[in-house]
Amino acid sequence: MGQAIMIINEIKKLIDSDPYIDIGFSPVGYCMLPNHYKSAIIMVTRHTEIITLQNYSEDIFEKILCETRDHSRNILVKMKELLKNNNIAYYIPQEAQANEKDLCVPFSYKFGAVNAGMGWIGKNGVLVSRGFGPRVRIDAIITDINIPAVEPVKGSFCDINCNKCIEVCPYGALKNNLWKYGMHRNELIDYKLCNQKRSEFISLKNRKNSCGLCIVSCPLGI
Ligand code: SF4
Ligand code: SF4
Repeated sequence: MGQAIMIINEIKKLIDSDPYIDIGFSPVGYCMLPNHYKSAIIMVTRHTEIITLQNYSEDIFEKILCETRDHSRNILVKMKELLKNNNIAYYIPQEAQANEKDLCVPFSYKFGAVNAGMGWIGKNGVLVSRGFGPRVRIDAIITDINIPAVEPVKGSFCDINCNKCIEVCPYGALKNNLWKYGMHRNELIDYKLCNQKRSEFISLKNRKNSCGLCIVSCPLGI
């Protein structure tokens, strides 16, 4: 446990003065990972620019996603160096879905953040970070260090009467349910419909539509 605390402190030092970054640590015992992997370092990066429906456009949102990814990657490079220098085994879990059929990943970044006590799943089906709201990017590094247990977030802190994300979805993909721990994502979002509609832009843009309507409509984290 001594090494874990030392590494946690070193990682916190790395991001100490960065107001865009929050770090948490999650056990990974609930995942189908090789036994020697014990924990995940979860990094939540606030979007480089906070936009709302008033100044939203898909192109601006995509630009913000790219800038935020670049910012988090710079920190990740330093974090990996730190782990390597301390002989800690790690790997970056697959971020994108392996196929378009079940749309699943072996390690869910947002569920890692929930288990690290960093936020909950909003009615919009994405992580709502305690500090930054839903305008965030999540990264994860799986490691073989044992970390002290943390209390996961067990329920939603969305206002039960808030429907902003539900109403803004052009396809009615969100189901207006309050999340609780253990709930399947199907109960929050028709993710296949969301994915299908965003995929219709591939021929036009060479990528899925970066729809951020249900994120930028959220009043939290502004
Ligand atoms: S990302 Fe867009 S399409 Fe998908 S649920 Fe949110 S608003 Fe709807
Ligand atoms: S818009 Fe309202 S209901 Fe939707 S995620 Fe934000 S707080 Fe929750």
